[in-house]
Amino acid sequence: MEINIGCVNCGVKACEHKTEEKYPPFCPTKNMDNTVFNKADNAYENDEDLKIAYTSAVLEGQFYGKLTRAEEIIVFAKRMGYKKIGIANCVGLLSEARIFAKALEKNGLEPVMVSCKVGAVDKSRIGVENENKLNKGCEHESMCNPILQAEFMNSQNTDMNVIIGLCVGHDSLFIKHSDAIITTLVTKDRVLAHNPVAALYTSSSYYKRILEDNVPE
Ligand code: SF4
Repeated sequence: MEINIGCVNCGVKACEHKTEEKYPPFCPTKNMDNTVFNKADNAYENDEDLKIAYTSAVLEGQFYGKLTRAEEIIVFAKRMGYKKIGIANCVGLLSEARIFAKALEKNGLEPVMVSCKVGAVDKSRIGVENENKLNKGCEHESMCNPILQAEFMNSQNTDMNVIIGLCVGHDSLFIKHSDAIITTLVTKDRVLAHNPVAALYTSSSYYKRILEDNVPE
């Protein structure tokens, strides 16, 4: 089946250098309604958004391929003038989150860390049936509580929040409820050691199943 929406079939990436004569027929840059373009363009008039965009772009230009993501986050936070940095971590990545908190401190930033099981609310609160719990309901099983993580960060007035390994969907709720801007240090993948892109890199070999129509419902 041919997918013909947006950039999926692009082989030229002509937008990178504005090579207009090479834009493919389905190119969004070429075909987009001006109102859509202008809405995004006008958003850069907002001082904070402009500062974020500028700082990220300069960081890319100065440190391309030189700094790890953990270091980039620290540089970004400092250049943005942020002080209090929230770390919303998976409880399974507590040790790694602690190391990142230490790195923030070493660089003059103030970490506020809260793990996903904060509040210790049983999964029954959100309607999870016993058969769908890891322990099958034999005892209390705390749910991930990304809304409480976000509210906690909001109550602490964090300047920026960093996600370390929140689950798919839980990260969405954290992002939805956080007052401060968010970036991700670690994207959870329980199978690929938090390197989800490996499934895409190996989609013609070990993980070709991702291109088959058999992902569980
Ligand atoms: S915007 Fe146009 S040129 Fe750029 S990747 Fe998409 S289709 Fe290709």
